[in-house]
Amino acid sequence: MFSPLLRRPLGLLVLAAVAAVAACSEPADAPTVTPTQAPNPVPATAPTPTVAPTPPPDGRAPSGLKIVLIGIDGATWDVIDPMLDTGELPTFAGLIQRGSRAPLESQTPILSPCIWTTIATGRNRKDHGIFRFRSTTTTADRPRLMATTDRTAPAIWNMVTSFGVGVGVVGWWVTWPAEAVEGFIVSDRMAYSRWTTWTDGAKARYLTHPENLAERLKSLVVDPVKAPPVDELFALADFNEAERAEILAVDRPIPFHAPSVFKFGYCEQRTYERIATELYSHSQPSLSLLFLVAVDPISHTYWHLFKPNAFGPGVDADQARRLGKLVPAIYRHDDRYLGELLPKFDANTVVIVVSDHGFKASGKLPGASKEIDYNAVGIARIEELDDPVNIGQSGVHDLDGVLFAAGGPILRGAALKTKATVLDVTPTVLALLGLPIARNMPGRVLEEWIDPAFLVAHPITTIDAYESRCKPTVFGADADVDDSGRTELLNSLGYTDVGGGK
Ligand SMILES: [Zn+2]
Repeated sequence: MFSPLLRRPLGLLVLAAVAAVAACSEPADAPTVTPTQAPNPVPATAPTPTVAPTPPPDGRAPSGLKIVLIGIDGATWDVIDPMLDTGELPTFAGLIQRGSRAPLESQTPILSPCIWTTIATGRNRKDHGIFRFRSTTTTADRPRLMATTDRTAPAIWNMVTSFGVGVGVVGWWVTWPAEAVEGFIVSDRMAYSRWTTWTDGAKARYLTHPENLAERLKSLVVDPVKAPPVDELFALADFNEAERAEILAVDRPIPFHAPSVFKFGYCEQRTYERIATELYSHSQPSLSLLFLVAVDPISHTYWHLFKPNAFGPGVDADQARRLGKLVPAIYRHDDRYLGELLPKFDANTVVIVVSDHGFKASGKLPGASKEIDYNAVGIARIEELDDPVNIGQSGVHDLDGVLFAAGGPILRGAALKTKATVLDVTPTVLALLGLPIARNMPGRVLEEWIDPAFLVAHPITTIDAYESRCKPTVFGADADVDDSGRTELLNSLGYTDVGGGK
């Protein structure tokens, strides 16, 4: 059926070092006001501002806006646009119609932990320190994924916390161990891998902030082995009996094995969806983040069935007809979920949807993956390969992701003067919240999308750096653990993209 699985040791290796990371607290340098340039074009309907208020001496001029930042890993306009045309994505369409849209340029190499951290910090990876999947302290015996403790720049949740502005984070990359914030963080290790192979003893620490939140949320974790949502999984494509049996049978992540990738990726996302629904139904902080993973692993493994013409004659036509619909199906799923979630927020909330990269055909069928020993391929090996396509991914990352926003002062159908990049998200969120931009952020506020009256009422201010406002969250020694189980899970989900970008 599929390859036997590698039995990795799950021994807990703990370093005595106390981990400390960048979190923020006390204000330091006072912001300065940067004159706001008149956005171009100025809509004729924009209200005329009266007198611009002077920001308070401490620089804090919260706008009072609420912002929801949704991350969809690997979403591309190449899939979304045809589905908008056919009316299959009504939630996305509604946001785009009353807001603005653009491609969002990523950075190479297009590695998810790096890019999502760039999006959340407004900094390049040389500054935020998340260079790849594995920590620099990884060894063959002690695989260790990048963690919050590896990050060397404050993230948006630290920045807003430093101004006492509330924040919620659900499932964002590289958020374990969960830092202390003004609000809550559900780290990226709350889903399956944590609650099965990862929840023994000290390994279960710091899954959330506040830490006791994890216990409350535990019942919402979707377990792909003990209680997979079978009806949901099977409804997404026309699996035949053998394929259904294989999906049901797979009991742990297997690298590049499509049924495993699909099942575990979907269940991971459903976990964070259920948690986000629970938390954001009760509490709507000024800034709410949610990360949805499943588009990426499904695109990696099913792209040849979705776009068979890009792969020559080797694609099984019947399989393409039945399973190629899995890629659009997961977009429809995301659209439907957001259609349920977003109405829970205030009507004036700004919704921003962003992806870390797009997708394109590798041109090579995943048949080659059958020739490799899945068990021998860990992240350590994959990161050394020049061409990840050769280990069996038919969909690979494209440089352009998506960005669309609507609500509050976001203008309708506004164009950007220059192409948006992943560096621009954090500055734009800060500006909408009325908080200062740091001068060490290379990106910019996407002012052309924002009502000029808002920018007059809430001028863009700057500070030298958020580092000066920050003091680290201190974790115990158990914030530094062996990552074998998590590494294997990531392999299976297709996070194997070194060199996969342009
Ligand atoms: Zn990927």
